[in-house]
Amino acid sequence: MPARNLSASRAVVLALLATGSPALAATPASSALVTGSVPATPAAPGIRAPGTPTPGAGVQGALAPLKVAPVDGPHLTLQPANPKPGDPVLVTVSGASALPTGTLAGRPLRFFAWSDGYAALTSLPVEQPEGTVPVDVTVSGRGLPVVLSSVLTVGAPGFRERELRVANKYVSPPKKVKARMEADRKAFAAAFAQPFQTPLFGQNFAWPREATVTAPFGDRRSFNGKLQTQHFGVDLDGATGSPVVAANDGTVVMARDNYASGNTVLVHHGAGLFTAYFHLSRIDVKDGSQVKQGDALGLVGSTGRVTGPHLHWGVKADDRWVDGQTLLKLDFTGAPEAPGMATNAPGLSNP
Ligand SMILES: [Zn+2]
Repeated sequence: MPARNLSASRAVVLALLATGSPALAATPASSALVTGSVPATPAAPGIRAPGTPTPGAGVQGALAPLKVAPVDGPHLTLQPANPKPGDPVLVTVSGASALPTGTLAGRPLRFFAWSDGYAALTSLPVEQPEGTVPVDVTVSGRGLPVVLSSVLTVGAPGFRERELRVANKYVSPPKKVKARMEADRKAFAAAFAQPFQTPLFGQNFAWPREATVTAPFGDRRSFNGKLQTQHFGVDLDGATGSPVVAANDGTVVMARDNYASGNTVLVHHGAGLFTAYFHLSRIDVKDGSQVKQGDALGLVGSTGRVTGPHLHWGVKADDRWVDGQTLLKLDFTGAPEAPGMATNAPGLSNP
């Protein structure tokens, strides 16, 4: 869509959509300069880089209109394109000359310098209703601030209902255990109370072990027909003694034997992001250890509240437990061309 100069003001700009639904209009009250409105549906597998001819497709027909969308102005990218409740969301901004500010679903975004632009990592609560949530980011480009507005379309969670049997002491903890559980709770709170810092990692996340997912994130569980909980992690199959490695670079902020999570390692990755490794039979790191992606953290086990040996892998983003399988799909390396990612980069749109 050609840029249309509707006003001399550069106060408010770009309405773009990550979903392919009709573009947001700039608010009528604002003296808006709508420089572009690019419906960006998720890129299809094999989508080509900007300007690359598509075999058999009319480049001049299908793709040509997108080439005039703004490429040198500030630029907002959201991953994943169509999240579900309980997903992490990566917001990246390029073309800004100062740290942006903004909100997603009204929640403030904590931006940090990243690659040649800025990024913020946040999350959707598991209770997030289906539907759209607004994303508004203010950036300093050349001159006056520019507002980039977008929406995320949140899909159905599809969380399963499960009945599990565990030792009764984990459902109705004996009185003497309660003090221990309270100490565990305080230890988790202290471990998660890290000052915000820029990412300690430079590459995308990887599995902590190559294994079958035996229980996905979000299962609604009933233990012994009594205790109702939700599964805030991804369970990976594994025999006791199988290695568990760090999903990315970071600092160990917990290496501790807890009542419910058993032998537990927590790694802080910066950017408000943590990964958790529960039920280990052995811990091979210490509080404060610096780890690189792939470094050994310990061994699979069955300590704590479990039905058998496995690794429970948790991910916390912006103070919420989120789906690690979605974290693995996020591209932090600055080239979000993977399937299922949305962007307003003109050439990546799929009209
Ligand atoms: Zn689990």
